[in-house]
Amino acid sequence: MDTNGLRTCTKCGETKELTEFSWRNKSKGRLKEQCKTCCSAAQRGYAAANPNILKEYRARNADRLAEWRKQYHEKNREHSLEYSRTYHAKNKDKVKARQTAYVTDQNPGYCAKLLGIPLAYLSQELYEAKRLQILIHRHIKEAA
Ligand SMILES: [Zn+2]
Repeated sequence: MDTNGLRTCTKCGETKELTEFSWRNKSKGRLKEQCKTCCSAAQRGYAAANPNILKEYRARNADRLAEWRKQYHEKNREHSLEYSRTYHAKNKDKVKARQTAYVTDQNPGYCAKLLGIPLAYLSQELYEAKRLQILIHRHIKEAA
């Protein structure tokens, strides 16, 4: 129920500003029944209870998500760059550890990037071959 720009959440029962509710259907001007706090808590709980669902969703929609991120970045260039700068400054160690892990694990995404092909075109054989190549190069570098 909306009264004077306020709405009561059906989950926590708190009465909040309308900005605290996400859209159910923006074109019809309908808001969700539950407040943003309750919705994100529910989403987090669901993701925690179903750890593979998110992973599978991301894998299935990798191209679409990448495209969406690219578009978002282009539309919100300044904000996006600023966020990235702040994040890197605040999480230097985390970023470094992730970069190291990304390279040392020789994950498929990294191999595809090195080969200059989309991940979808990376076959198992190609992946294995590139991994070996990376390992050989690393051994040579370490031995030198
Ligand atoms: Zn709520």
